[in-house]
This record gives sequence, C-alpha cells and structure tokens, in this order.
Amino acid sequence: MPGEQSISTSNEEHIRLRNALRESELLRELSELLASSLDPTHILQILVRRTTEVCEVQRCAVWLLDEAQMSFLPSAYHLNASNFPPKALQAADHVWHRSRFPFHDPIVQHLVQQQPCLALSDLASTSSSHMLLLADKFLVRSILLIALLREGKPVGIMSLDNPQQETLFSAEQQQLARAIGQQAALTIHNARLYQQAQSERKRAERLIQRARSIYQVAMAVNSGEELATVLHIATQHLQQGFGTGKAAIALLSQDMTLSVMSQGESTASTPNEGPHLPALSHCQQAATTGKTYFIPSDQATPHERAWFQQLGFEQVLVAPLMGNLPRQHSRRTARGETSCLGLALIGFPLHARAPSQGYRAFALDIAAQCALAIEKDHILQEARQAAALANERANTLDVIFNAMSEGILVLGMQGETILSNHMARRYLETSFDAQIDLSKLLQHRHISTLRGKTIPPERFPIVRALRGEYIRGERYVTTSADGSERTMEINVEPLLDDQQQQIGIVSAFRDISEQIRSERRVRRALDTMLHAAEAVSGLTNLHDMLQSLLGKTLASLHCDRGMVQLYNQEQHVFEPYLSIGFAPEEEELWQQEQQTWLMPTEGQYTGFREHLLAGHALQVSAEQCPEQPNPFAETMLIAAPIMHHNDLHGVILLDRSTTLRREQHPQEGATRPLRHPVFNVWDLAVAEGIAQFAGLAMEQMHWQKEATLARTSEELMRQSNDLKDEFLDITAHEFRTPLTIIVAHSQMMARLLRKHQLEPVLQDKLHESIATIDQQGHQLTNIVNTFLEVTRLNRGQIVLNTEELDVQRIVERTVAEHAMTSPMHTITCQVQTGAHPYLILGDSARLSQVFANLLQNAIKYSPFGGSITVTLQQTPNASGDPFVEIRIQDQGIGIPLDAQARLFERFYRAPNIEGNKTRGVGLGLYVVAQFLSLHGGHICVESSGIPGEGSCFILTLPLVERSDIIEA
Ligand code: ADP
Repeated sequence: MPGEQSISTSNEEHIRLRNALRESELLRELSELLASSLDPTHILQILVRRTTEVCEVQRCAVWLLDEAQMSFLPSAYHLNASNFPPKALQAADHVWHRSRFPFHDPIVQHLVQQQPCLALSDLASTSSSHMLLLADKFLVRSILLIALLREGKPVGIMSLDNPQQETLFSAEQQQLARAIGQQAALTIHNARLYQQAQSERKRAERLIQRARSIYQVAMAVNSGEELATVLHIATQHLQQGFGTGKAAIALLSQDMTLSVMSQGESTASTPNEGPHLPALSHCQQAATTGKTYFIPSDQATPHERAWFQQLGFEQVLVAPLMGNLPRQHSRRTARGETSCLGLALIGFPLHARAPSQGYRAFALDIAAQCALAIEKDHILQEARQAAALANERANTLDVIFNAMSEGILVLGMQGETILSNHMARRYLETSFDAQIDLSKLLQHRHISTLRGKTIPPERFPIVRALRGEYIRGERYVTTSADGSERTMEINVEPLLDDQQQQIGIVSAFRDISEQIRSERRVRRALDTMLHAAEAVSGLTNLHDMLQSLLGKTLASLHCDRGMVQLYNQEQHVFEPYLSIGFAPEEEELWQQEQQTWLMPTEGQYTGFREHLLAGHALQVSAEQCPEQPNPFAETMLIAAPIMHHNDLHGVILLDRSTTLRREQHPQEGATRPLRHPVFNVWDLAVAEGIAQFAGLAMEQMHWQKEATLARTSEELMRQSNDLKDEFLDITAHEFRTPLTIIVAHSQMMARLLRKHQLEPVLQDKLHESIATIDQQGHQLTNIVNTFLEVTRLNRGQIVLNTEELDVQRIVERTVAEHAMTSPMHTITCQVQTGAHPYLILGDSARLSQVFANLLQNAIKYSPFGGSITVTLQQTPNASGDPFVEIRIQDQGIGIPLDAQARLFERFYRAPNIEGNKTRGVGLGLYVVAQFLSLHGGHICVESSGIPGEGSCFILTLPLVERSDIIEA
C-alpha cells in the first residue's frame, strides 16, 4: 500500500525531522551550556546531568583519559534514581570513584578504535574484568558506551545506563548520546587547553614575580642600603616567592658559625648566634658545592633539625650565598674563588613536595644578590676603616708637623710657599694666614754669620738651595723685630715628584741660640778647669796649690774675694786656711758671717751645711734663704766642697757680694761695669768641678807623702835585713868553731870515760851529761848550719850540684832514716807505679834536706802514734809538662787557714805551736821553699786548720822527659 507507505513514510519522516530538530535543539542548548564554563569539572557535571535527561536514562558517567597512566579515570557521573535504596547507591558511588578502564582493555580498544558508540545489553556476559567489576559493583546491566574523540584521539568515555535494569538503547538514544559525546569531547578538549593556558600564564606570572623579586633585591643592593635592610628585603621576597611565609638568612662568620641576620616578618637585625656549619652536613654540602639542598624533615641531621625547629621550619630548602670574600681560615678559598658567605633558608610545611628547579634557581639568584650585598658591605667597611685611618694619620701628622720644634718650610722652585708649620711662621715672624714672601722677609731682616758678618739676601741658605746648592747644618744669626738675636741652624733637602724631578725644597730650621750659649758656657767652664789644673800640676805644697787654685777660680768666675777652709774631720769644724782679696779689717767680720751657716746654731740655716757635707756646691744668698732673720741680703757667694772618695777635706768660698752691693747701691759708685751679679748653674758646676779637683790634688799629695815614707822605711828595712843577715853570718861562723870544739871535746870525754874505770854512779852521770852536751851541740850545729844556709840563700850564694836523680830513691831513703830514728810514728812511703823512675835534675843533698825538713816537721807537730804518709805520683802542670808530685801527709795539729800564706816566710812560726813545747826558729820551711824554687819546683800546703786533721805539704818538681834522658 503505497498510500499507507507514504503515510508511514511521512510519519517516519516527520518523527525523524522532529527528532533531528529536538536533537539539534538539545545540542545547541548543551553546547551553550558547555560553553558557559571553562572549568572541566563543572562542564562534566552539566554534561552528565543533561545527558541523563536528554537520553532518558537514569545514569550517565564520564571517564577521562590520563595519558600518563594510560587509563580512563572517573571524572563525573549523575544518577537520577530516587527509588534506589540509599545503601546500594552509596556502595555504587564508592565503586565508581575507584573504577578505571585501562587503555588496553579489549572493549575499550574496540570502542576507541572501531565503534565509538557501543551498546552492551548484558554486561555480565563480557569477558572484560573491568566491565564485570562495573556490572557487579556499579549495578550495571546494559550499558551504552560512547568514545569521546577529538580529532580521532580519545579524550574519554561516556557511559549511559539504567542501574540494575536491562535496557535496549534506541537508535535515537544512541545517536543523541553520540552527538553529545562529540560535543563533550570538543568542550573537554577546549577546557583542557584553556586550563593549560591558564597554568602557563600562572607559571609566567610566577617567573615575572621572581624576576621582579630578584630585581628589587638587586636594586636594594645597588642603592647602597644597609646590609641588614638588604637581607630583610631578600627574606621578604623569598617568603613571597615561595609562598610559604617562612624564610631566613644566616651569615657565616670567620669561625664558621651561622648567625641568623633576618627572619620572616621580624625586622630585628640583631644577629642570632646559630650553630657551627661543619655540624650541619646538608648545609655544609650546600656551602661547599654552591648548590641548593632540599632537606626533608626526616633526612635532617639532629643538629639541623634542632636549628630548623628553633627557626620554626619543618622542611627546608638551603641556598648558599656564594661570594668572593677572602676567608683566611678556609683552605678552599683561594683568592678569586667563590666561597660560602651564608645561607638562605626557606621553610616548607611537613608534607610539601621538593621545590622545582625554577624555584631553586630563584632562591640561588636571591642568595647571590645577598652575597653581593655582603661583599659590598665588607668592601665598604674596609673603605670606611681605611678612610678613618687615613684621616687619623693625616690629623696626627698635622699635629706632629705643627708641634715640631723645628720650623719646616716647603717652597716651590720659584720660592713660593707650598707648606709651612707653626714654628716656621714663628721663626719667620709671619702671621698664620699670610703668604710667606721670602724675598720681602730677607730685605727687612738683618741676617749675619755667627762672627757677625752680614749675609746678603742672595747668599741666604734657602736662596742658595733654590739655586741647587747643598745646604746642611748652616748657622746664621737673625735679629728679631724686638731687637733680640737668635742663632738658627738650617738644613735643606730637595723636594722630588714621583718622576724624581725636583719640584721644590724642604727646609728645616731650628733655634739653637740656647745651645750656642750652653756650648760657650761649657767651653768657658772647661777652660777654667783646665787652667786651674795646669796651674796646680807642678805644685807639691798644699798651701801653694790651694792658693793658686783659688786665685784662678776667683778670676774666671768674676769674684772679688774668696777663702779656703779645711775641714777638721775629728771635730767637725771648718778652719780658715787661706784667703784672697780681703782688706785686713773685713776678713774677720766676713768669716763670722759665714760661720752662721757653716756652723749653725740649733736649727738655723742647717740646710747649707748639710748640703755641703753631702758633697754639693751651693749658692749662699738672700734668695736661697727664706728664713727670717735673713742675714744674707747682701751676700752672694758660692761654697764648693773639697771632696775625695766621699771624704770632705774642706770648702772653697767664692764671694761676689761686693759686685752685688755695688749693683744694689749704685750711688756707692763703681767705675767697673757691673756684670754677673748672680751666679748661674754653670758657675756652680765650675766651682764644684774645681773643688773636686782640689780634693783630688790633696789626696794625691797625701799619697805622695805616704809613698815617700814607705820608700824610706823599705830602704831602712832592707838595710836592717842586710845587717841581720850579716849578723847571722858572723854569729854562725863564730859559733861554728867553738861548737866543733865542744862537740869534739864531749866525744873525747866519752872515749876517755870508756877507757878509765870510775865509780859506776859517777860514770853514769858523766855519760848522761856528755850525751846531753853532744845532743845539744848537734842541735846547735844544725841551727847554725841553717842560719848559714839562709844567709847564703839571701845572698844568692847557693850553687846546686845538679845531676840526674831518681827522686823516689831519695824520698825512700829519707823516709827509711826517719822511720828508724822516730819509732813512735808510723812513717810510710807510697809510690804510684807505672810512672817511675821519677827522674829529675837536682842536687841530691839539698833535696834530701828538703824531705828531711818536712818529715821532721810532720813528726814534730804530730802526736805519738800518728801516721805520716809520703806519696809520689806523676802529674802534668797547667801547660802539660810532666811533674812529680810528692805529698807529705800527717795527722798532727794542722795549720790555721790564715797562717798558711805566711808559712814559707823567714822566721815565721804559726800560732798553732802556742802551748806546744816544740823547738824551732821558723827557718825550715823557708829553706825548703827556696831550695825547691832553685830546682824549678814548688811547695804548697793543705790543711783544714782543725787539730787532729793534720796537714799535707805538696811538692812538685819537673821531671826529665824520656827523650832528654836518651840525649843525655
Ligand atoms: P819551725 O822551726 O818552727 O818548725 P819551720 O819553718 O819548719 O819552722 O815551720 C814553720 C812553722 O810551720 C812551724 O812553726 C809550725 O807552726 C808550722 N808547721 C810546719 N810544719 C808543720 C806541720 N807538719 N804541722 C803543723 N804545723 C807545721
């Protein structure tokens, strides 16, 4: 039926048209709706809601593709099912939020690549696990899946279903859904693009913001702001830039401690002493590498965590402040290398992610600006210090320059003043502000040499120096405006520029008037003393000497009269000795006046006398004596003590009173010009010197006298000694003959007695007497022999009978003889072996006598039973020559220490023998010493002086060398 057919066709057509109209209407409405927002979330919400309405389904959901995860992730869904049990809905919602379609899921693949609109009537029958999960938990039975494609590429998936219902999706529904899907894909794509653009813009804004921050900090650095302010600004920018509100800047000091200089909002610039950098390992790393470090709270070292906590930070980004400041303590920091000057710290909340490279670069840029500010501050401080120092030096130099006692005048080559100090202007008598005009000055000033010869201006030293002459230590006399004369000394040096070209002169001049005056005075004083010395040098008489000295001194010190008084050291009084210049009647009066202070009565003018006794010259005048009554109104004298070796011998009084009187009373009329009324220090010094000289001369005279006396007595002594020797000689000779006769007769008597038988008692008595005569006779003979030997020694008449001897044998023989004759003593001889024979050149008889004398003394001055030891050993003398040393040690009475030096003198007997009945004349040791000396030997003694500790006589004699023996 064509009619029916056409009717049905037109109906279908109508429906189709209506549907198309509706569809386009819907799509238009939807596109308007979608275009009303650029927020993808919002758009999707509208989409899913309107799709359920338009497509007449209960639920619509959208999954969007996450390319990174290669999955479609749930983005929005709408459920229009009021009759659903809420619990089931909740569970479904929960599942949906966790659902995902992996890109490789076969259904997804099919949908995306082949069939962008896929209606699945029974989801439970599919093989996709993801779809099964969706069916099960999301309560889906039938589903219409739409691929959201943009330019062929998937953007997402849209699903339509009626929960828990099987649905057959009409073609119209499917078409509509597809159209919506296309629209949605476009909108989502656009929204995403928009979002991207938005984030790009934000990023650009952030970059601009950071650049601006860095610029502002840099501006602060360059504008010369204080370091604290710059750091504060930098901290604020770090806070703003990172948006965390937490930032701080810590500076690193020389000893590697960190001090927080600026933190957060606080404007306080007081440094907060922080930890030691090496203790913070991450911060230390940042400091050494120059890179930023992000330190999450769980990675911070305990020290770091403690410090960050103190700053109120949880996680921290550290940016080192790298600069060029030299640090002596850091080895790494060679000149020109950068080193860490501090740290910028940015705090982050606990779970915040590590900042991006861009942020780190920003932090480093700000840190670099801070480092620049620190360097600048350092340089500025150094410059300030240098400036202050330079200023101080300049001021000091200026003060020194002006305080100098020398006048300094610096002139250019044309004579123009470049520089002058106060003294120069004073000497040149120019006001401080006026220019010094040299030629004008020279024209108006009279300048002369020290001898009074005028110096014309062109010959003035400065003018000559300007002409290139060398001026050193020149002297001239200038007359001041007030007429006084001044002697000047001038030195001139050339002034050179840095090319060593002369650009002027530096002249230094000083006033030496006083020096010249002193020099003259010294010369005069020396002259005076020299003349005085010459005058007395030939004199031996005390009176003549003192008179000459007084006369010379009076003349050179311009005094009228004077007196010398000698000091009586026993009675402590001064006694007049001689005077010059007094009229006979005035001397006594004058003397009385001087007695008032030379011998003051209690408490009066004692100062003068004490001064004098202490050895000082003094001036006696009214001025020196403020006491009342003052008798010295018309007195002007110097009193100089004559001293030597702290002994006062007298006083020289030099009087100028008459000159003073004439000055005070001019009407009394003096024809002589009145000069030097008052003494000056030089007069005092001269008087003191002359008096000392007098003391010396007196002392010398005294010693000369003593020496003459000594010479006389020595001569007398020599004569008496000669007489003594002569007497001894004669006595000895005279004694010898009768002694020999006595001894011979006693021996003869003994022989006769033995021949003739007498009564035994008488015979014993006679024998005893004869033995006594014999013993005493021998002793006397010994004494006489000694006397004779001594006189011969004194006269040099002893001649040694020298031969080569073994001294050991002589000693042993002498010891043996004495051991035999003195059995009460133990006399032994010890010889050091290895060194003998002890060969010497000597006189055997004399040497035997030497040892005998010493052994006899040892026996004589030791108690019975005492041991006497003689030892022999070889010893070198100071120059290394071999000597034999013989020691005779006893255990006797010893020799007092103070007697030991005199032991070898003639007739000396030590006090140790007092109370000792030993006989002797004190010649034994003398003879020993003399004989030894004739042998080139020597003797000394050692004894503590304590009785019982004994004495030891030590003899040395030169040994004959082996070679000598062979040659001999
Ligand atoms: P003297 O004839 O008195 O013994 P010497 O010249 O021999 O004269 O001795 C001088 C003095 O030295 C002695 O008087 C005595 O005081 C002292 N003297 C000498 N030898 C000894 C000795 N071995 N012990 C103590 N004193 C001695």
